[in-house]
Amino acid sequence: MDGKVDLLNLTIEELENFFLEMGQQKFRAKQVFQWVNKGVKDIDEMTNLSKDIRESLRASAYINKLEVVEKFVSKIDGTTKYLFKLIDGNIVESVLMKYEHGFSVCISSQVGCKMGCKFCASTGVGFLRNLTSAEMLDQVLTIQNDAGSRVGNVVVMGIGEPFDNYDNLVKFIRLINHKDGMNLGARHIAVSTCGLVPEILKLSKENLPITLSISLHATNDEAREKIMPVNKRYSIDKLIEACKIYTETTSRRITFEYALIDGVNDLIEYAQQLSNLLKGMLCHVNLIPVNSVTNTGFKKSSKERIYKFKEVLEKRGIETTVRRELGADIDAACGQLRRSLIEAVKE
Ligand code: SAH
Repeated sequence: MDGKVDLLNLTIEELENFFLEMGQQKFRAKQVFQWVNKGVKDIDEMTNLSKDIRESLRASAYINKLEVVEKFVSKIDGTTKYLFKLIDGNIVESVLMKYEHGFSVCISSQVGCKMGCKFCASTGVGFLRNLTSAEMLDQVLTIQNDAGSRVGNVVVMGIGEPFDNYDNLVKFIRLINHKDGMNLGARHIAVSTCGLVPEILKLSKENLPITLSISLHATNDEAREKIMPVNKRYSIDKLIEACKIYTETTSRRITFEYALIDGVNDLIEYAQQLSNLLKGMLCHVNLIPVNSVTNTGFKKSSKERIYKFKEVLEKRGIETTVRRELGADIDAACGQLRRSLIEAVKE
């Protein structure tokens, strides 16, 4: 925005430097941090700043603002999908899930994705750019203000590969975690990755004990490479080794996501292989009935198959849940709405 600084993208320390450079006092940083992290978008609403300060702020800074393009509310369970327009016109999506224990928001981390997983709606639409920390944070703030209720959990599981945007992701987590901001505990933040090993190891050293979800979806390299190209870079053994290091350094349990695709990865022998891979690890498995995405040709496994798969894992001591399908009537699964929108525009 014409060389201006996005205030929502700054840590308190960065804001302090910003105010010192403006010839103002350092304590202003905390005031502005508190305002923008509440979702305030207009500098004039910052009533504890003098008119002069507000004017010079306006000259050199702006606050990221997402525009709600559309909102889809599920009639089944109230799950709400937001399509947001970013300042440069790009579109991302986020989902609000209403659980009994509170509100949870699923956010996007990139515009598009480079990973090319065969079953995913983001594949084929291409990669455009990384989101800034402010753009990730603003998805949560905008939904929180729109819903009028505190968001207690955030999952980075929407469009994009969060570890392919590592620095902005970690900055976002530190911002949302900050006591003067949303003050959301690390245990209430989950990040899902297709398995970028160097970043898993890096995160284990950040002193940010968030929940890590690994999109595994297959139990041997040959099968995984067919549906997830990233496996050619990092084999399953390397991935599992990195996960073990993560659980050992953070004491956090890892979630392994396994989307069951009819006839592709749902044979019972795969459940056995999976239990061998994960034996003795601090982890649990989340089975997801795959969402069919146009043109991928993948179908969900039958209910019987899903429960049989679960039973085999549990018999072998692996804690397993089956993901509840929320918002099935609003294409709530990641990337689906943005993809339908882009396709509609192309036609
Ligand atoms: N890139 C990250 C986060 C985005 S994908 C990752 O790979 O984890 C979020 C989750 O949705 C992942 O577990 C992903 O594998 C899963 N997913 C993608 N397409 C899906 C589909 N069609 N059905 C079910 N789950 C899907």
